[in-house]
Amino acid sequence: MSLKYCQGPKCHSYTTKDRLKGTKGSKTYQTRRRSSMYYGNGNFCSLHCQDDWFNKYGDQAIDHYGRVKEVKHLTEENAWVKDYDYNYRDHNNPKSNYRSVNKITKEERSLTESQYDDSTYTLNER
Ligand SMILES: [Zn+2]
Repeated sequence: MSLKYCQGPKCHSYTTKDRLKGTKGSKTYQTRRRSSMYYGNGNFCSLHCQDDWFNKYGDQAIDHYGRVKEVKHLTEENAWVKDYDYNYRDHNNPKSNYRSVNKITKEERSLTESQYDDSTYTLNER
């Protein structure tokens, strides 16, 4: 299992016991390494490190990927979200647990499991 490094620019500067590594006489506080991390799509060991990254690079990232410069609207045409009813138990039709729900009209349409799992599948107009 390969270890990933926390992407927090100041991770190594937090002096916790688990970050102190190395042999006696040459110990240093080091960036955390983990097989998996919970924050920021698995890139950060803590919300603190995620915030540090955003404070340092957030403006650049937003400018790079496109700053929102006008109001966005949620309309019937783009209000579809995928939903899964964990409590619904129709054993004759187990796939009916998957559906798209329109957040404005409340209309529901059933989905197949593969449509549900396909991150590019949507009823929303682009
Ligand atoms: Zn960190």
